[in-house]
Amino acid sequence: MEKNFKVSLRKTPEFLRSYIENKVRELRETPGKIDGEYEKNPIDVKAISFINLILSEKIEKLKIQSPGVMDPSRIHLLNNEASERLGLVGSIQAHYYPTVDSIFVNRDKFQNSKLKLYLTILHEAIHHYSYTDIMYDNLVGENSKITASRSGYDIYNKFNSPNNKHFVGFNEALIQRIASRLFEQNVERFIKEWQITENEIDDLDEFGDSYNVEDIIIQTIIDKIAKLSQQDSDTISKDWENGVFTGKMYHLRDIEKYFGPGALRVIASLSSEGSMSELSKKDYFFKIQKFFLTDSLEERNIIATEILSERERLKYKEHQRFMS
Ligand SMILES: [Zn+2]
Repeated sequence: MEKNFKVSLRKTPEFLRSYIENKVRELRETPGKIDGEYEKNPIDVKAISFINLILSEKIEKLKIQSPGVMDPSRIHLLNNEASERLGLVGSIQAHYYPTVDSIFVNRDKFQNSKLKLYLTILHEAIHHYSYTDIMYDNLVGENSKITASRSGYDIYNKFNSPNNKHFVGFNEALIQRIASRLFEQNVERFIKEWQITENEIDDLDEFGDSYNVEDIIIQTIIDKIAKLSQQDSDTISKDWENGVFTGKMYHLRDIEKYFGPGALRVIASLSSEGSMSELSKKDYFFKIQKFFLTDSLEERNIIATEILSERERLKYKEHQRFMS
């Protein structure tokens, strides 16, 4: 009989932790060059080491344990063909894979701007510095397996079913906020370390375009909570951003407090595969925005049934029954 024994690294007793961590390192792919990967030039190398520096400073300020720097050999700058082979398709130009702690970037998509390339690597590197938990399974023997169960706010189903993710859009938009904030606050250092020209800066109007729809939804929620709780929007945003690194989610209880039971499941569905209904993206975004704008619980309940997948719809109703 096959054993299905999964343990979270975070829940591993202290005395076993370093043994397990070494095992996990062994299980992760040995970083090596991939077919179709570009050599990093000296400016790339410098840019990546600055990204590590700025993010290590951030972690230090938060007084949390650092996961260690993002290993540059795990940042793969790929050509179009390799990108496609490795799953960077459509509008996806880069991706971080928590299980193997690796970043894949389609380098060909950034031929005109190294600034945009480095900002993309900054975003992906924040995933590396995010709160992470991994599940491991049969660490001894052939069937060794590790899977990520948490990465920032992202929650993956324990049994690794591909369509069981939560908080994906929420996490991505906050990571993009962190990247923008870091860049804006340290712009002169970035310009110097990344050897950025004025033309590239002028060209940057597209920065922030990724996840901007998700960002609008998050801002809607933040503004409403700020108004109802008489807090400052920016303070709430910073708390949420810090949660990406600390893994603390208690502040999200405000979402249920001000939008009713089940509201957390609604925001968790944002851009999370398997959690959204079959609506078109445009309709989905329009409706989820309305969910957080309306003051009517009745209207929210109707919207929830329209935008959630069947699995999530059932859980939404279950949760409401439980809370009433
Ligand atoms: Zn991302």
